[in-house]
Amino acid sequence: MTERVGIVVVSHSAPLAAAAAELALEMTPSNPPRVVLAAGTADGGTGTDAMRVAEAIGEAAAEGGGVLVLMDLGSAVLSAEMALEFADIGDTPVRLTSAPIVEGLLASVVTAAAGASLDAVAAEALGSLGAKRAHLINEEAGADPGAAGATGSAGPEDAPPTQPDATVEVVVRNRDGIHARPAALIVAALAGRDAVLRIARTGEEAVRVGGPTGLLALGARQGETLTLTATGADAQALIDELAMLFADGFGEPCDPEVAAAPAATTTRTDPDAAKPATPAEKQLPAATHSGGPLAGALGVSPGRVAGRVVRMPNPIAAPPEGPEITEEYRQAEGSRVAQAADAVAEALRHRAARAGETGSAILEAGAAIAADEDLRESARERVRAGAPAARAVWDAFGAAADTLRSLGGRTAERAADILDVRARIVAQLTEQQPPGLPDTDEPYVLVAHDLAPADTALLDPSLCLALVTEEGGPTSHTAILARGRGIPAVVAARGAWSEPGGETLLVDGASGELVWNPSPEQLASITERAETPPFDGAGRTADGHRVPLLANVGKASDGAEGARALAEGVGLFRTEFCFLGRAEEPSVEEQIEIYRRVLAAFPGKRVVVRTLDAGSDKPLAFVPSGEEENPALGVRGLRTSWIVPGLLDRQLDAIAAAASQEAAEVAVMAPMVATVAEAADFAERARARGLAHVGVMIETPSAALLANRLFEVIDFVSLGTNDLTQYTMAADRLLGSLAALNDPWQPAVVELIGRAGSAGAAVGGGVGVCGEAAADPLLAAVLVGAGATSLSMAARAIPAVAAQLQKVTLEQCRQAAAAVISARDTAAARNAAAAILR
Ligand code: PEP
Ligand code: MG
Repeated sequence: MTERVGIVVVSHSAPLAAAAAELALEMTPSNPPRVVLAAGTADGGTGTDAMRVAEAIGEAAAEGGGVLVLMDLGSAVLSAEMALEFADIGDTPVRLTSAPIVEGLLASVVTAAAGASLDAVAAEALGSLGAKRAHLINEEAGADPGAAGATGSAGPEDAPPTQPDATVEVVVRNRDGIHARPAALIVAALAGRDAVLRIARTGEEAVRVGGPTGLLALGARQGETLTLTATGADAQALIDELAMLFADGFGEPCDPEVAAAPAATTTRTDPDAAKPATPAEKQLPAATHSGGPLAGALGVSPGRVAGRVVRMPNPIAAPPEGPEITEEYRQAEGSRVAQAADAVAEALRHRAARAGETGSAILEAGAAIAADEDLRESARERVRAGAPAARAVWDAFGAAADTLRSLGGRTAERAADILDVRARIVAQLTEQQPPGLPDTDEPYVLVAHDLAPADTALLDPSLCLALVTEEGGPTSHTAILARGRGIPAVVAARGAWSEPGGETLLVDGASGELVWNPSPEQLASITERAETPPFDGAGRTADGHRVPLLANVGKASDGAEGARALAEGVGLFRTEFCFLGRAEEPSVEEQIEIYRRVLAAFPGKRVVVRTLDAGSDKPLAFVPSGEEENPALGVRGLRTSWIVPGLLDRQLDAIAAAASQEAAEVAVMAPMVATVAEAADFAERARARGLAHVGVMIETPSAALLANRLFEVIDFVSLGTNDLTQYTMAADRLLGSLAALNDPWQPAVVELIGRAGSAGAAVGGGVGVCGEAAADPLLAAVLVGAGATSLSMAARAIPAVAAQLQKVTLEQCRQAAAAVISARDTAAARNAAAAILR
C-alpha cells in the first residue's frame, strides 16, 4: 500500500467538521486520504475530547505517511496537544497545524490524495489562505481581484525555463473557473509524473504549480486564456491530459459561448506559444449599484429576487461605564435588566421553536442563560452600586464568562454562549439590532460583510430571499451552501453593506446584478424572469406522464407549508420527529391529536404516515435499544417493535383513529424493512385496524432485491434513498469522510431503485421516493425513469423538481436512468444524465 498522509479534524462542532470534510472530499477527484473527525462530545454536545482526538490520530496514522491535525478554536488546540500524549502510534510523525479548517482541509486532502509527503501537505494547508488573502488585498488596492499579486511572483528558483518541453494555451471553460475541484484534478494529473508545471495568465509571468493553493491563488475565471508549460520527461503527457481537462471544462457546466480554446492543442516546444496572447475579454457581470457598478460583484447562486434589506449587524461594543445612576433611579434601572433579559429569553425561545433540531438546542440553551436568576442578580447588584443597566449586564455576564473560562475543559466552552446572550441583552437595553442572523418572520435580503458557515447553514431559505456579501468568492463555503440551499447569492459586492439609504434590493444571483431601491418596472422584471415557476399542483413530464409531487413532513407546521406549496399530498410523515426529546411514550390520545393536525392539511389527498423510525441517529428515550456497536445496523425502525411490546400496535391504533376522523386518504408504511415476513406482519397488523393502504420503505438492499415479493403482501413501496444509499455503499450516512460514497447518484443505488421500479410496474403498485434524492431536480427525473411513480420532498424543493420534469419526456427519463445505471461512477452518472435531460 502506498504510504499517504492521514488527516484529523478537531472541532467543537460535529456538523461543522462533517461539512468541512464533505466539502474537501467532494473536491477530491479520486482516492482521497483518510479524514478522521474528532468533533463534538460523545453525548452529541459541543466541545472536544482529547481521548477521541487520540483515537482519531491512531486511525489516521494507518495511512502510513504521517498525520496532519487541523483544529478549530481554543480547547480544540489543547485537546489535540494533550492527545499527542495518549496516541498510540509509535514513530508516526504527527503535525498540528494552525491552518484554517475549511481551506486547510481542502488543500491538505487534495495534496495528500496525490501522494505528497507530510511536509508538502502541511505546507499546502498552511498556505491555503493565500488565495483569499491575495484576492482581498488586491481588491482593497482597487486592482483586478484575480491579478498578478494573487499568484505571487515567480522567485528565482521558479523562473520559467527558456525552453519548456511542452506547452499549450487553454481557455477556462467551466462556469466557476479554477476553483478547488478543477485545482484538485490538475494536481492529480501532476501527481507521480516527472514534470514541472507552470501556468501563466495572459500578460503575466508564469507561476510554478505545486499544489492546489497556488492554483486557487491564480484566481482564473471562466473565459480566461492560460498558458500551460511543462518540463521534464512526462511534460507532454501532462500537457495532453491538462488540455483535455480544460477542453472538457473539468466535467463541470460550461456555457456554450465559451469556446474550448483557439489553441487548445498541445504543441511541442514552440517558444512563441509561451508569449503573452492578446488579453482575453473578461465576461464578468456588471453589478449595478443605484445605477453605478459595484466592481467585482459575482453572482454565485442563481435566482432573481427583490426584498427589504436586512444588514447583518456589527458586533455589540462594550457600553460606557457612566453616567452613574442616582440613588432614586436605581430600582427602576435594575428592573430594566430583568425586562431586557426576559425579552431576549422570549425571542430565543421563539426562534428555537422554528429552528431545526441542532439550532433549537443551542437557542434553548441561550434562553436558559438569559433567564438565569443568578446572572440577573449579579447585574442588579452592579446597578445598585450606580452602574447603568447595560454596563452592569456587560460586566456581570463578562465576569461569569471569565469564571467559566478559568475552569477550563468543556465548562470553558460555555463562556461563548454567555457572551452571546450578554450582547443580546445589551442590544435590547440600548436599542441596537441584536447580533447574529436577523430574528424576523418577514422575508428579507441579507447583506453582510461575510458570513460564517454556521450562519449560512442556519439561514432559512423561506425567509432569506437572497444573500449579498462583501467578501467571499464563487467557491467560498457561503457560495456553496447558498447554492445547496437554493438561496440566490452575490459575493464580493464591496460597499454593499455600507450603502446608505438602500432599503430594497434587487439581486440577480446569476449575473451578479444588484439594484438598490428598484423601480416598479425593474421589480416587474423579476416576475417575468423568475427562473422557477411556482408549482401548479400537478407534477408531470413534458409528454404528460403524471408524477405526483408530495411533501415530506415532520410536524404539523410542515403539513401547512406543504399544503401552501400545493403538494399533492404527503409522501413521508416522519412521526418520530414529533416525539424527539420525550421521555415517555405518548398516549394514543395524544398521538391521535398530533397526527390529525397533519392529516387536516390534506383533505382528500394521500398522506403516508411512517411508523416510528426510532434508533440510530434518531434515538427516542422511550424506545431503548441498549448499547450497540453499530446503531445504524441495529435495532431501529420496524425492529424496535420487537423490543417494546405493543408500541407498534398502539401507534397503528392512533393512526387508524386519526384517519377515521379526518378526510385525508391515509396510508401507513414501516421503516427499515429487510424481509418479506416483516412486511407481511406489518401489513396484517395495519389491515386489522382498517388501514387500507399499507406499504414499506425500501431502505435496505435486501428490500430492493425482494421488491417483487414484497408486492405480494403490501400495496406500495417508498424508497428511502438516504438509508438505501448508506446500506448499499456500506457508508455511515453521518460520516463526512464517507460523503462521496453516500451519494444517491451512485450507479448501484439507482440500479436497486430500478429493480423496485420494475417490480412495482409489473403489478401496478406504487413506487414512491421520499429520500433526499427526490429533491435533486436532475436525479428526480432519473428516478422517474427508473420507475418512481411519485416523489416526496421538502415543500420548498417541489417547484424546481416540477420545472425539471416538465422539460423532459418520460422516454428521456428512462434513457437517463439507463445511462446512470451503466455509468462507472457518480461523476459520469451526473454527466450522462445531464446530457440527456438538458
Ligand atoms: C431515507 O432513509 O431516505 C428516509 C427518507 O428516511 P430517514 O431519512 O428518515 O431515515
Ligand atoms: Mg431512512
